[in-house]
Amino acid sequence: MKSKTTTTTEKKKKKRLKISDLRGFKQMAPYLKPHRIGFALGIILITISSILTLFVTRLWGQLGGVGIMGGNENISASDLETGFLANFNFNNLEAIVTTIAIVLVVQASLSFIRVYLFANMTEKMMLTMRRDAFEAVISMPMNFYHDKRVGDVNSRISADITSIQDTFTTTLAELIRQTIMLVGGIAALAYFSVDLTLMMLMTLPVVVLVAIVFGKFIKRLSKETQDEIATSNVIVQEVLTGIINVKAFANEWYERKRYASSIGTVRNLAMKGAIGRGAFASFIILFIFGAITLVIFKGAALMQSGDLASEHFFTFLLMTGLVAGSVGGLANLFGVVQKGLGAVESLMDLLNEKREIKSLTEEVRSYDLRKPIKFENINFHYNSRKELAILSNLSLEMKVGEQIALVGPSGAGKSTIASLLLRFESPVSGSITIDGKDISEMDLRGFQKRIGYVPQEVILFGDDIRSNIAYGKLDATDSEIRDAAKRANAIDFIESFPEGFSTIVGERGIQLSGGQRQRIAIARAILRDPDILILDEATSALDSVSETEVQIALEELMKGRSTLIIAHRLSTIKNAHRIVVLAKGSVAETGSHSKLIENKGPYYRQIQSQDFK
Ligand code: ADP
Repeated sequence: MKSKTTTTTEKKKKKRLKISDLRGFKQMAPYLKPHRIGFALGIILITISSILTLFVTRLWGQLGGVGIMGGNENISASDLETGFLANFNFNNLEAIVTTIAIVLVVQASLSFIRVYLFANMTEKMMLTMRRDAFEAVISMPMNFYHDKRVGDVNSRISADITSIQDTFTTTLAELIRQTIMLVGGIAALAYFSVDLTLMMLMTLPVVVLVAIVFGKFIKRLSKETQDEIATSNVIVQEVLTGIINVKAFANEWYERKRYASSIGTVRNLAMKGAIGRGAFASFIILFIFGAITLVIFKGAALMQSGDLASEHFFTFLLMTGLVAGSVGGLANLFGVVQKGLGAVESLMDLLNEKREIKSLTEEVRSYDLRKPIKFENINFHYNSRKELAILSNLSLEMKVGEQIALVGPSGAGKSTIASLLLRFESPVSGSITIDGKDISEMDLRGFQKRIGYVPQEVILFGDDIRSNIAYGKLDATDSEIRDAAKRANAIDFIESFPEGFSTIVGERGIQLSGGQRQRIAIARAILRDPDILILDEATSALDSVSETEVQIALEELMKGRSTLIIAHRLSTIKNAHRIVVLAKGSVAETGSHSKLIENKGPYYRQIQSQDFK
């Protein structure tokens, strides 16, 4: 009989293993490995604790039996042979209760240690995982951030990590405990009465099968719900970041509709999930409770006919409850484990995604990029729009310290050239070399450390002015920061704030004007002291005072550095050493302002038609 019980359990287990794709756990190996001894200990503790539960259940049954019969008249030879599950020769209630009390104290202590142990290991694992996930997220090539929306990645990671955390703090332990209860319980049941156990087991495979189907269904629904929640979060984030556009276009109604439709879908999916879980619960109640009723009925009949001792009947009843509980518990856990595995899988996908930077140590190679730069026969298209050639056969040379203004209609590829030089993107064909060395062969971070970039839209971190400037050189001293601010023509306005350099800016602090933000960004770049400078000139107009102040700061910054300017203002263009006019993805003409005007070519036409500021 016992062998039969085991076979059934094995069959059940095999099915579970096949269904829950264990690939995820295998990928978790590097995270689990440092804690393998701790986990093994935890598993041993939970095994002992579960066996003790079975033992206590047995003793409870015995209490009931002794209570009714008044002694241990039911001891049989086989009882004595069978270890702790047998009658323990206790024939008085006090002895049994004392044993139970001791076992409970031991079990309580073990459980405490186990919970602490699992939490301790899981938290350490989570720390590594969060760190790795963050490292992955910031190490991706630029196109990762174009393709994936930031809010989406963000909420996905936090949801995944929470789900993995649940799996390792509670679910795994529960899984082991419930399995031991199930196997041990069934073995004990079979020992008391084969007939009764058979009756019990007839319902189990059905429940397991249904559990598998439901588990899959619920997993799919919960993933869909998660996706949709992510989508709705993205909408909120987009609306809030772009609130000026929403308001200016009076499109609140449209955003409301968009959000309502998304959260409507969330609700529908969640309700579908709820119906699934509800149906699942009903199923369990019907079958498990039905089975319990049958077992009680059959057991009472056996006891009545004298085929079953009363203490065995009591134990049988209690253990049936235990087994039924663990079947239900396991079925529920099944969905949770699958969710955890899904989370592991998607996190691992992210960690395995191709990165731009391999390792994020502080050490980087140092380069001297004060050398001539050469773009040769560059062809380029973005991965998301392969059919659209952005640059074709573009060639361009920059002398050391030369200031080049890139000019051309919007969409001509000016920013794209900057992205290529910043190595946010790589040319499809052709090469960019500095002093004859291909930039793609240089250590990325070491290379980028020598490049200064002042973007069009300066976004400051919600920290104080000092740290915002120091972002250009994290170990800068206060006097270096001050000096940079001075050279960026920013010291006056900074010192006009009561808190000076400690003034908090951005969302949590004061809002700086466009010109002030730009000068902070320029100070940041001055502090960085790059060899090559890329300026994306702001299109938004500044008042003429700010304009002059920014211009002074820029000139200080550009001094002696090879500079590529994505130019929007005529004054900047005129001041540049050379103007490069782009058309149809390559250089249409190049020269000084006066020479290009004389040429009466594309530049002249653009100057005529476009109102440069
Ligand atoms: P400019 O700076 O001269 O206005 P850009 O270099 O920004 O021009 O853009 C050149 C072309 O590349 C445009 O047609 C633009 O739509 C396209 N483009 C820019 N960035 C991307 C991207 N990440 N993915 C796909 N296409 C892009």
